[in-house]
Amino acid sequence: MANILLLNASFEPLAVVKLSRAIGLLMDGKVEVIEAMPGRELRSAHLRQPMPSVLRLRYYVNVPRRGVGWSRRGVLARDHHTCQYCGKRLGSHEETVDHVIPQWHCRAHKIQPNTWGNTVASCPKCQQRKGGRSMHEAGMRFFNPNYEPKIPRTNYLIMASDIRPEWKRYIRI
Ligand SMILES: [Zn+2]
Repeated sequence: MANILLLNASFEPLAVVKLSRAIGLLMDGKVEVIEAMPGRELRSAHLRQPMPSVLRLRYYVNVPRRGVGWSRRGVLARDHHTCQYCGKRLGSHEETVDHVIPQWHCRAHKIQPNTWGNTVASCPKCQQRKGGRSMHEAGMRFFNPNYEPKIPRTNYLIMASDIRPEWKRYIRI
């Protein structure tokens, strides 16, 4: 079963859609194919073409920024189950979520600790090293200096689904 990434006209990811929906959009002329799945063909009653993997709407849809609920699972998926401090790939028994600004500090300042921006996947060793301090106080850095936790521009459910290689350039994390 093929899942297809649907982009807004602005190239922002909008949703992951099923093939039947994608066919409907193609038949209505509402989308253009941006990336195809290598070696696969789409054959339906009215269409025969390379199997789309990424579609882009021909018109801009103004999407209200509805925040996707924070979840521990979502953070781990976003960070590819990789410790954001040392870069270690996390085994299932060592998946922890670290608060960049520690929870006690957030509570003291009435800041919500569990947000997409304040949480990263972390290994137990790095979490222990960081202790109850902020990343800065602990002298720690993200292993990927380009990593910038941010409020998601799009639905993190996309991140939690199987991401095809040709999607990656359109998904910002
Ligand atoms: Zn680590």
